[in-house]
Amino acid sequence: MKSGRFKDKVKMFFKKFGLLLDETLFPINFRCIFCDNDIPDYENKPFCESCEKEVEFNNGNKCLICSAPIENEAMICDFCQKEKRYFKKAFCPFVYSGKVRSAILGYKDSNKRYLASVFTKFIAKEVSESEIKFDIITYVPLTDKKRRKRGFDQAELLAEELGKCLKIPVKRLFVKNKDAKTQKFSNYKERQQNMKGMYSLSGEKLKKTDTVLIVDDVITTGATVNYCAGLCANKVKEVYACAIARNRYKEKTDES
Ligand SMILES: [Zn+2]
Ligand SMILES: [Zn+2]
Repeated sequence: MKSGRFKDKVKMFFKKFGLLLDETLFPINFRCIFCDNDIPDYENKPFCESCEKEVEFNNGNKCLICSAPIENEAMICDFCQKEKRYFKKAFCPFVYSGKVRSAILGYKDSNKRYLASVFTKFIAKEVSESEIKFDIITYVPLTDKKRRKRGFDQAELLAEELGKCLKIPVKRLFVKNKDAKTQKFSNYKERQQNMKGMYSLSGEKLKKTDTVLIVDDVITTGATVNYCAGLCANKVKEVYACAIARNRYKEKTDES
């Protein structure tokens, strides 16, 4: 696409002179979000045909609560049957695997901030189809230290985009007090133990009539979002969660 090439040229110009150019200045890049090929209809489909075949949409059988893909016919996954969930339901349009995983890592670690608005459209579609009326959108935050290091907070940016998209106010309900040591091989139970004191409420005013939507980039086991939901669950009417993608359950994971 022409304007895509023009933007690339502008970027090259800035690169040549050693200037750092924020991706957010060019929010749409008109290329497949997964493989960077030019595509004809970015607005409606921000990926190319070959990537579309490979990308795993989370539209098969999935847990009615946490949205985890389920291999059999069960309605509720084993985790949600065993563990108390403080959120009523999670909306996750993609399965966290393959190209989606790479794109999310690129968004977070390679500062591809323009992807926030692209991913948000998919989340917004699922959320609006639920017809639930949300009063507050919030997010699972990074620690201030991590946010400074990364330059932005990936879940906060998604929440802001979602707020704009759905016209719902975004508030910072949670504070992350410390980073986990390493969660590399921890299972759900270990994660929950590890999480004690990691997040707390920010002090933002909440009403018993509020319905809250918590945004995260990825839901892996659901432990993090469940912990945050638990912090505010008894202060509001209902809590829901959403993320770009939902991980398949397995004992060993590589993301928090
Ligand atoms: Zn592609
Ligand atoms: Zn579940």
